[in-house]
Amino acid sequence: MSSIIQPGAIVPPSQEAPFVRLADRKHVFRRRAERLLDLADGHPLEPFLMFLGALARAQQDALDSLEHSNPVSPRPDTSGAGGAAVFPVQGWTRAPLWRDLLGSILDSVESAAPAATRQAIDRLRSMDDGELEDMAQRILDGDNEALDPAAAPLVASALQVYWTHLAGHADPGHLGEKRFSKVCPVCGSAPVSSMVRVGGVEQKLRYLHCSLCESDWHLERLTCSNCESTTSLQFMGIEGGSEAVKAEACGECRSYLKILYMDRDLDVDPVADDIATLALDLLMAEEGYERSGPNLLFVPGEEVADTN
Ligand SMILES: [Zn+2]
Ligand SMILES: [Zn+2]
Repeated sequence: MSSIIQPGAIVPPSQEAPFVRLADRKHVFRRRAERLLDLADGHPLEPFLMFLGALARAQQDALDSLEHSNPVSPRPDTSGAGGAAVFPVQGWTRAPLWRDLLGSILDSVESAAPAATRQAIDRLRSMDDGELEDMAQRILDGDNEALDPAAAPLVASALQVYWTHLAGHADPGHLGEKRFSKVCPVCGSAPVSSMVRVGGVEQKLRYLHCSLCESDWHLERLTCSNCESTTSLQFMGIEGGSEAVKAEACGECRSYLKILYMDRDLDVDPVADDIATLALDLLMAEEGYERSGPNLLFVPGEEVADTN
């Protein structure tokens, strides 16, 4: 079955368009790695983006290694009843497995890492389980104050793999309630960005993308993803920058989140393109807007140009 969508029409999700889309676990991080390498070419942050490409490849390898393992025990209620997150970042007991994933990611990226990151890898290897768990919780709590900005993205990358694996055990047909949600119906995290999709029943539909578990959930276009206001949204970009990435800024709550357009660039990635447009974040800060969701691979204030 297919539906005919008129050009320019903004359609609510029909029965066929899912409210929640789970990650394509075979390809999600591999595609991100390829995108990061493409974006890196000639970019002012080229070395940083190249390293993140290596990190994304390591994430895919780590996720692939879990193909036949089931860390979900006992199996939780995956019905999403009442709109509650199925694998909530607050309250979910993380399996020690995520620390094994971190170890394999650190081994994979060490040779590609700039000096400051190699030192961060050493610091992480010297931490005991309790210290790593504390750091993980601070990341999941969005508590950036006391975070080690070079080490936190590495820990976050392992948490992303772990939660993407968990999310694969959810039943997308029963996730969330089809109404406004500013957090992910699978894990309760804030979105990293949103994306207007192309193709099939999702044509021109906008989905928010989870900063942690790589799930998408639907939100009507022209609606603030933070406060649901529809009255004073502006779309801002960098002059001469990509037309496929804009900041959707809300005059009501003074927040913004980037919105990506697949019809302008089919290869946009919700994490990679967000990082590659840090200049837009600087502009939005100057304009007095605050970002409503994190990119876990970048702690604001981190020195990204250090490639020694
Ligand atoms: Zn999520
Ligand atoms: Zn708002």
